[in-house]
Amino acid sequence: MTTTSLARPDIDSKRLAALASIVTGTAGDHQVLSPLDGRPLATVPRSGPADVDHALAAARTAQAEWAKRPLRERRAILRRAGRLFLAHRDELLDLIQLENGKNRLSAFEEVSDVSLTAAYYARRAPGLLRPHRRRGAIPVLTSVREHRVPKGVVGVISPWNYPLMLAVADAIPALIAGNGIVLKPDSATPLCALAAVEILREAGLPADLFGVVIGAGSELGPRLIYGVDFMMFTGSTATGRVIAEHCGRRLIGCSAELGGKNPLIVLADADIDRAAHGAVQACFSNSGQLCVSIERIYVEDAAYDAFADAFARRASAMTLGVALGWEADMGTLTSAAQLDGISAHVDDAVAKGATVLAGGKARPDIGPFVYEPTVLEGVTDDMEVARTETFGPVVSLYRVADADEAVRLANDSPYGLNAAVWSRRRGVGVARRVAAGTVSVNEGYAAAWGSTDAPMGGVKDSGLGRRHGDEGLLKYTEPQTVVRQRIASLAPPDRVSDETYARFMSRALALLTRVRP
Ligand code: NAD
Repeated sequence: MTTTSLARPDIDSKRLAALASIVTGTAGDHQVLSPLDGRPLATVPRSGPADVDHALAAARTAQAEWAKRPLRERRAILRRAGRLFLAHRDELLDLIQLENGKNRLSAFEEVSDVSLTAAYYARRAPGLLRPHRRRGAIPVLTSVREHRVPKGVVGVISPWNYPLMLAVADAIPALIAGNGIVLKPDSATPLCALAAVEILREAGLPADLFGVVIGAGSELGPRLIYGVDFMMFTGSTATGRVIAEHCGRRLIGCSAELGGKNPLIVLADADIDRAAHGAVQACFSNSGQLCVSIERIYVEDAAYDAFADAFARRASAMTLGVALGWEADMGTLTSAAQLDGISAHVDDAVAKGATVLAGGKARPDIGPFVYEPTVLEGVTDDMEVARTETFGPVVSLYRVADADEAVRLANDSPYGLNAAVWSRRRGVGVARRVAAGTVSVNEGYAAAWGSTDAPMGGVKDSGLGRRHGDEGLLKYTEPQTVVRQRIASLAPPDRVSDETYARFMSRALALLTRVRP
């Protein structure tokens, strides 16, 4: 494992003031640390409950005007924003690395995702939002249109692991659909969220339409939920349940993208070298702090030894680093809490008899929260790492007899977010049997995530609802059915008895409900 050393610049004070001015916050200061060296990076305003109310009121007023603007204007602004994300690429990559600690390629995933998402929904929105003709109660006499009305103000609560992307990518379709947003990013990574909102404003988004509050989720979250019309949450399953309870009480919808313990299946006919290469991406991108990253690998017996050897060698050869730049294959974890949790999983597994094939220890010589990409073997169900999400660069290898056993074990989890299968010929058939919202064949997660046209999300404890695809936008709208009845109404006409009417209608219904073979 080679390393790259630290060269960490400070953020320019004028730039910081511009970002801080976006926050609705009057409850003091909030300090942001850089995980690259564990030292303070910036101070931004902290929000209290009254600030949440203020941001909500401003967003609601701005939304009423925004929803009246022609769709083509809203699309043009978001399309422009998509291009601006790319134009500001390098400064965004710096900020993501400074605030989150990930390697630059993982940071690039964020910038490319928001840009792609903006372009996709700007293109797709007219087809989704135009009024759709529906079949009427009585053909010809009843004309029906299904309209799509924006929900109003959407609350977004986002985590720290993809601090730019998860703060705004889900807001983009909501905005195009005519909604306002109030965002509460994770307190560890507010700067990336603010930089993203700054770009949306540069593209022409009205300032009040997208409010940002910063502070503890347990304090600001409920206040936010009680003032919005829909909640978009990304984070842990435990918090997702709390959010869904609040939304249930208010009878508003919520979309919750939650945790995972994602499996990868390597079948005996896989190209082993490609599978090992792909597994490194799937397990260690973003230092494994990725909801869709792989934490369990099931390998068919005939391929196990070759795969374990190739995979462990590749993991051991990764370059670790905390410098701003493209050199490192993996950056640092984002916090001391992450380092503690991940170390505890590995230490517990090793104490109970697991074998470390690669990595297995912290690297304070590189950065305060750096942990090596780690491959474990001999993991049993009594070990914490076996079933609980580690959310770090730690993966367990399991030898299985055949694809049936691999599928059974892959599905033996409360989670069902993402999965992968490596195989030359049997991949799709096996993929269809895995209980997960997305399953990639001969890829870990990037192809599924990057296919913005297809829905993405989890089953079981991994979530509710979907991002991406049609649902990724339609969930921010209320369908409204407007029906126009021509010539005759559906009620019995004057001077026709109810019984005669029912007899006539029965004949008509018999014709209408005749099902063609
Ligand atoms: P977390 O649930 O602790 O925090 C996420 C957000 O929720 C933060 O903004 C936090 O301030 C807020 N929050 C915390 N308690 C709250 C409360 N009571 N009410 C309202 N808001 C509250 O999540 P985390 O541990 O920081 O993030 C990692 C988790 O997120 C992992 O489980 C990971 O798998 C998951 N995740 C899922 C996806 C996905 O798309 N499925 C993406 C990224 C992360």
